Amino acid sequence: MCPPAEPDLPPDAYFNPSTKCCTFFPALANYSVGGLLIADTGEGAEGARRVRARIAARIGVTPAGVLPPARVLLLQRASRQAFGRAESLVCPYLDRERGACTVWAHREAECATWFCKHNQGADGRAFWKQLRDYLVLVHVTLSTWTMRELGIDAERIAAGFGPRIDSLDARDLDDRPPRDDEYLAMWGHWAGREEAFYRAAFDLVRGLDRSRFEALVGIDHTIALDRLQRRHATLRSPRLPDRLVRNPALRAHVLPDGSRVFASEDAGETTHLRRELVRLLDLFDGQLTNDEVKAKVLAQTGVRVGDSFLLALYQHRILIAP
Ligand code: SF4
Repeated sequence: MCPPAEPDLPPDAYFNPSTKCCTFFPALANYSVGGLLIADTGEGAEGARRVRARIAARIGVTPAGVLPPARVLLLQRASRQAFGRAESLVCPYLDRERGACTVWAHREAECATWFCKHNQGADGRAFWKQLRDYLVLVHVTLSTWTMRELGIDAERIAAGFGPRIDSLDARDLDDRPPRDDEYLAMWGHWAGREEAFYRAAFDLVRGLDRSRFEALVGIDHTIALDRLQRRHATLRSPRLPDRLVRNPALRAHVLPDGSRVFASEDAGETTHLRRELVRLLDLFDGQLTNDEVKAKVLAQTGVRVGDSFLLALYQHRILIAP
């Protein structure tokens, strides 16, 4: 997360305020690129200008969409600790002066669903991750369908257009476009008319009705929706286990006043607890029920621990089921 007004943690623990979480190169689906190009006035003008410049440079420009270059994708995957911090990985669509996304209306699934904090901790994170997976499925299905509708060669579609990070060549490393013959083979009769192709893809998707969409996305879509609904139900009606135990995988950073900032991999975020509360955590041993622990705390300290507080500790995976 970005540093708060009064940071608790060392500076390295926070995102770089000038990059924020936008050290990520999105993969814009073909129809999303078309949407950007069509909305090239007002708010959308800067995004359209930037995506047009990428199309002109031919790097990552494919019938599936405008994709991250292989070199950048490799760096992104190999440098998780640099996420939110490395200037060299900043998104090409981020307006650094305004701290704003220039392709917001057409941003990809990861950008639309990623948050550094969640109201309901790990449960909230699980919901948004599933929504991301759902949107990726929709993006891939629709971009594949539009490619076929617009006459891209079926063998070429089946081979895929994603950057290959296990076999980078000198062009990939030097951020140069593919060879002309490769580029022409990829685009076929659309070569040189890429903007028109992307706009046509957008028009096709815009014209879809619900039944045609459902026929295209099929059973995988139904299963993804089922999973999304299940995670949403967990958010709406969370269930607190009867017994809890302190998460043994927690990482803790002790602050000068004795309070602690806990980081849990499952929740993917940090939680700040006052010193008095930190001491309570060890009373949860997985043997006593929550009611027994609450009675013990009340007898020892006079403090009433509420279930909503326990639920928050559980959802942030400070406490877990034994
Ligand atoms: S597309 Fe927008 S939201 Fe996504 S990383 Fe770039 S600037 Fe950030």
